[in-house]
Amino acid sequence: MAGLCEWIRIPSIGVDPAHHADVRRSADWLADALREDGWPEVAVWGDGPALPAVFACWPASDPDAPTVLVYGHHDVQPVDPVQRWEHPPFEPVISGDEIRGRGASDDKGQVAMHLLAVKAHLAATGQNAPSVTLKLFVEGEEESGSPHLRKLLEDHEAELGCDLVVFTDTALHDRDTPTVNTGQRGVLGAEITFEGGAGDVHSGRAGGAIPNPATALAKLVAALHDDDNRIRLEGFYDDVLEPSTKEREDYAALPFDERKWLQHNGGGAQATHGETGYSTLERIWVRPTAEVNGISSGYTGPGLKTIIPATATAKISFRLVPDQHPEKVAQQLSRFVAEHTPPGITARVALRGEGVPPYAISPDDPANAAVKQALELAFDQPVRFARAGGSGPAAVLQQRLGVPLVYLGATLPDDRVHAPNERVVVPLLLKGAEAAAHLWRMLAQAEIAKRLSR
Ligand SMILES: [Zn+2]
Repeated sequence: MAGLCEWIRIPSIGVDPAHHADVRRSADWLADALREDGWPEVAVWGDGPALPAVFACWPASDPDAPTVLVYGHHDVQPVDPVQRWEHPPFEPVISGDEIRGRGASDDKGQVAMHLLAVKAHLAATGQNAPSVTLKLFVEGEEESGSPHLRKLLEDHEAELGCDLVVFTDTALHDRDTPTVNTGQRGVLGAEITFEGGAGDVHSGRAGGAIPNPATALAKLVAALHDDDNRIRLEGFYDDVLEPSTKEREDYAALPFDERKWLQHNGGGAQATHGETGYSTLERIWVRPTAEVNGISSGYTGPGLKTIIPATATAKISFRLVPDQHPEKVAQQLSRFVAEHTPPGITARVALRGEGVPPYAISPDDPANAAVKQALELAFDQPVRFARAGGSGPAAVLQQRLGVPLVYLGATLPDDRVHAPNERVVVPLLLKGAEAAAHLWRMLAQAEIAKRLSR
C-alpha cells in the first residue's frame, strides 16, 4: 500500500485544466508500477482528445482461458473546500487502518487493489501468468463524465476485446456487510426555461393581466410527481424493470438504520419520502427519479422588487433504471414541457449532454454468482446483492464491448468520496484483493469459462 500513497501524491484532478499534466504523470506512474509488477504489455493512451488512460494486458498461459477486462479510473475529484480537510489532500496519511487522501477510495485505491490481487493470485497458484487473460483499462476522465470513453473504446477495439468486464469503482453496503453491486442508475439532466416578454415588468401596471413565467414554471415542477410520488411524464415507467423477488429479499435483509441513514446520507433531512410501495433502498437503487436541482427567476436580492420576471429556469435531473433510455426520457420531457407551457410563454429545454444509460446484471448471471462466491471466500461470511444509486460508464462499456459487466469493489459508502477527508479502509482493500484473486481462478473453471465465451 506504500505505492498507493505515492500515487495519491499526484493531484490528477481531471476536471481542472491546470492539473492535466498531473493526470499524465498519474498515468505514467501507474504504467511504471504495472511494468514493475511484471505485466508484459503496458501502454499509456494519451495521443487523442482524451486525458491519458492506461492499458495493460497479462495473457493467461492457457490460450483458451477467458479474457477479463478490469475497468477503473485514475483521475480524481477537486478538493474544495480545502479548508475542511484535516490534512493536505495530496499528502496521504495513515490513520489507524485507513489511508486518507484524495483518490484513496475513488478510484486509485480500488485500482491498487487489483494490482495486489494479481500478485496474490500468482503467489497462491504458483503460476507465472494469471488463470484468465487479464486486461486493465484505467480511464483518466471518469470524474469529467467520460466524454471520450466511446471514442477510446472504438479506437482501441482490438486491444480491449474481452469476455467479461469487471468494474471496480463500487462500494460494499457497510464494513460488516459485504455486498455485490449489480447495477447503477443512469442520469439525464435538463434545463427548462420559460420566457415571457423581453424584460421584467412592473407588477402593478401589468400584474394580473400577463402570464408570470415563475408561476407557470412552479406549476410545471409541481406537476412532475403525482400523490404517490410517481413521475408523470407519459410513458416514463413503460421500460422500467421491476427488481426480482430475490433482489428485493436481499435488499430487505440488509441492515438499515433509517435515522442514521438520514443523518449521514440524507443530508440531515427529517423524514424519508418517495414512491409509494418501495423501501428507501429500493427507491435509491431500483426506482427512477425526477429531482429539481435548482430554480431561479426574478429578483432575489435584499428587500422587495415588485416585478413580473421575464424568465424562469429550472434545472432538473432524472435518475434512470434499466431498461429506460435517456433519449426516450428526453422526448417524454419535451412533450411534458409542451403540455405545461401556458399561452404567452415560450419554453426551451436544454439537455445536459446525451445522458448516461442505466445498467444492471442479473444476480443469476454465472459471472455475477462467481463474484459473490469470491467475496464470500475472502470475507468468510454470506454476501448479498445490492445496487448503487449513482451513475457511471458501466452501460457504455457493456454496450460497446458487447459482453457482460460485473462489479467488484471493497470501499465503503462513507469513504467521503468527492468530499473532504476521503479515506479508504485498508483491511477491506486487502479482502477485495483476495476476492479478485479467487475470482480469476474461478472464472477460468471450465463451466463459467464456457458460458463466458458463448
Ligand atoms: Zn469513481
